[in-house]
Amino acid sequence: MKSPEDIAAANPSSPLRRIELSPGVFGAATSRRVARGEVLVSFQGFPPAAEKSRYSIQIAPRLHIVTRETSNYGPDDFINHGCSPNAFLDVSTLNVVALRDLEYGEEVLLNYCATEEELVEPFRCDCQSPDCYGEVKGFRFLSRPEKEALKEITSPWLREKYGLKADIA
Ligand SMILES: [Zn+2]
Repeated sequence: MKSPEDIAAANPSSPLRRIELSPGVFGAATSRRVARGEVLVSFQGFPPAAEKSRYSIQIAPRLHIVTRETSNYGPDDFINHGCSPNAFLDVSTLNVVALRDLEYGEEVLLNYCATEEELVEPFRCDCQSPDCYGEVKGFRFLSRPEKEALKEITSPWLREKYGLKADIA
């Protein structure tokens, strides 16, 4: 079992800590207040993999990054999915960035469909968001309006593949 110390060692400046949501079920929460746009954790340096897994993050059509096979476990092991996320992965920098100001102790959530075209293991979601997908299967399975709603935080290659135009100011 990974400890908060393992996380700190892998990402010394990350304002994330592990929380136990229910017995044996973990998440990642802020260890201090975080401003919108701040980097919560970086996946730079984590090994790439051609094959996806339950614990990989997709950064290109056939490119995934993996943290579970390293000796230094990353905080991403604990970042849960939320259909209305408060953070996103910028695949150009591999930084997880806060989408809004976060309070101390707030659980950090990523929308897995923003990076994963098709999950290895789809799952039922009960994130309590009014926009909850119910079944989380991956970007390609979202309805057109759901894809549109995600376009600002979706990986550019997915945006391009599915013909979404980002509103770049
Ligand atoms: Zn949900």
